[in-house]
Amino acid sequence: MIIVMSVNASTREISAVIARIKELGYQAHLSQGQERAIIGVIGDDRRIPDPDLFSLMNGVEKIMKVSHPYKLASREFHPNDSLVPLNGSMVGGKKVVVIAGPCSVENRTQILETAQAVKEAGATALRGGAFKPRTSPYAFQGMGEEGLELLAEAREATGLPIVTEVMEPGLVPLVAKYADVLQIGARNMQNYALLHAVGESQHTALLKRGMMSTMEELLMAAEYILSHGNERVLLCERGIRTFETYTRNTFDINAIPVLKQRTHLPVIADPSHATGKREYVAAAARAAVAAGADGLIIEVHNHPENALSDGAQSLTPEQFGKLVHDLRRLAEAVDRCM
Ligand code: PEP
Ligand code: MN
Repeated sequence: MIIVMSVNASTREISAVIARIKELGYQAHLSQGQERAIIGVIGDDRRIPDPDLFSLMNGVEKIMKVSHPYKLASREFHPNDSLVPLNGSMVGGKKVVVIAGPCSVENRTQILETAQAVKEAGATALRGGAFKPRTSPYAFQGMGEEGLELLAEAREATGLPIVTEVMEPGLVPLVAKYADVLQIGARNMQNYALLHAVGESQHTALLKRGMMSTMEELLMAAEYILSHGNERVLLCERGIRTFETYTRNTFDINAIPVLKQRTHLPVIADPSHATGKREYVAAAARAAVAAGADGLIIEVHNHPENALSDGAQSLTPEQFGKLVHDLRRLAEAVDRCM
């Protein structure tokens, strides 16, 4: 249930409603919009509070039942787009941000060269995994903390903030020490202990859609993070598994407008994992921007042929530079900028 306050409701009236919600044993989440305040009543779904308890209070305009299982993530609760700060830009605003870098951090030269190249091409942030979720236990698992240290060095050298994956709740404090954005990978989208830990950390999160998850499941996963008062959540469409085999995954372009309609959270698209093949990445990236994505996360490697993970879908720095150039023109056509 959400309580929509009238445009001229006073701070005292808002506080009184919040106090009443807490007295009744629920949590109150205040969303202060430009025009009015909206208060979410959050708690056990089986006990729905009587709307009359609030409708007669001063300053209350109306009570709305939220029909979806996700509440804090819903547009009803937060009608305006959420803006998440990243490197001086606001993700979810007019600018389309570009997070770029290798799938994995492999060594010092690789990450520093790639970071410099993506910076020069106009990237907003640097990606690179130090803890890698690999299908095979025999595949390269990432450099761990040493990789995080190299990412910090790359940030120092380029000024680009770092996006890197965290796979277990116990490692959130360590990864958060180095990362500007904690990536939750597709395979961990429903790792609830991890979602709780990232929520508690109050760190910006990039939550990737599970390869076999519905959009509603993605929004429910985001709700876990939001329920800790951590409002810095970026959703990521990275392709889903279908019967098609000519691409690694099937890019669910629908997810972009659908999520933008249902949630206020920014939506990032990952054309690299969505296609799995370098030759299709640019087309999928352009489609994502045209469909309204707030940002892209793209794998770029200084020598893709030697990559220890996801080389086939990694762009060379030259290909990435050309793509950013093309995307700038496209962004303008859809009233965005890059
Ligand atoms: C990645 O970003 O390198 C990655 C492992 O992505 P996903 O979790 O979407 O498979
Ligand atoms: Mn990858």
